Amino acid sequence: HLEALQAYKNLPSETLDGHKITLRANVGNLNEISSLMEVGADGIGLFRTEFLLINTDTIPNEEQQYQIYCDALHSLNGQQLTIRTFDIGADKDIPFLNQALEENPALGVRGIRYSLLHPKMFIQQIKAILRAAAHGNIRLMFPMICQLEELNQVFKLIDQAKTQLQQGNIVFGIVEYGIVVETPAAVLNLSSMLAQLDFVSIGSNDLTQYTLAADRTNPQLVSDYPPLSPAVIKLISMTIEQCKLLDVKVCLCGELGGNNKVLPLLVGMGIDELSLNPSNLLAVKARLVKGNYRAFCQHADQIKSLSTIDSIDQAINQF
Ligand code: PEP
Ligand code: MG
Repeated sequence: HLEALQAYKNLPSETLDGHKITLRANVGNLNEISSLMEVGADGIGLFRTEFLLINTDTIPNEEQQYQIYCDALHSLNGQQLTIRTFDIGADKDIPFLNQALEENPALGVRGIRYSLLHPKMFIQQIKAILRAAAHGNIRLMFPMICQLEELNQVFKLIDQAKTQLQQGNIVFGIVEYGIVVETPAAVLNLSSMLAQLDFVSIGSNDLTQYTLAADRTNPQLVSDYPPLSPAVIKLISMTIEQCKLLDVKVCLCGELGGNNKVLPLLVGMGIDELSLNPSNLLAVKARLVKGNYRAFCQHADQIKSLSTIDSIDQAINQF
């Protein structure tokens, strides 16, 4: 099966009628970069930097992070690297940080909230990333942004990071900026933030969790966790449509993107890029290159008119 899929590796990533989709890889550490080369991914669409905080008892300093980001760029041979700043908190607990115990960690100090409360740590990470950007193509994105105030604060800290680098005569490059859209608030507030963004990445794992109020780590819920509720589809579709209006690139980096049965729906809704687990990439690509964009659009329109999880599931399995 895997060998049969290898045939797709070098094909262009487009439908029979020529609609192109960029397929990138999600990675959590440097070792995984070789596996994305094996499946012909178009660079990294999600580098989960909080994995740098596992199996260690300190946050790597600016120099160490700079080295890691440069190494990642180097292994990518010029392909794009999308770095997500630390997504600390909730299910990504980092013991050595001694975060205060929270009753509802998923609703607590996580993602960008943690970074904004620890500006020194955040500026250090931004400086390392901006310096690495002098050596390659980097996109930078922020997890758990819900509203404009947070994004404005982020850009203020980025300005401070740049000033510090300039004052030290340290070379740095430019990056593209994006947010992970992973809360209903981010979807509803997106229009106020898009002017400052080069791209958006839909985090369907958390978007599903927060839309359905269903803990993604609760085994009882995970077994029949309905990833394709009409509500989630509506929020994904709203995100894509707002991005299209302002010509902002829109990606999806949650597990949903790794499901080849869901590919026609996502492409039909207008997604530009998917970032997925490298082990799913070729199966998703196989589905893409065998399909027609026009048929995918009709399929997406049909699904958007459905109001139950079951009927959506059926339509997806029948297509
Ligand atoms: C997501 O929430 O969909 C996502 C891609 O990020 P993570 O799974 O790391 O929270
Ligand atoms: Mg997330």
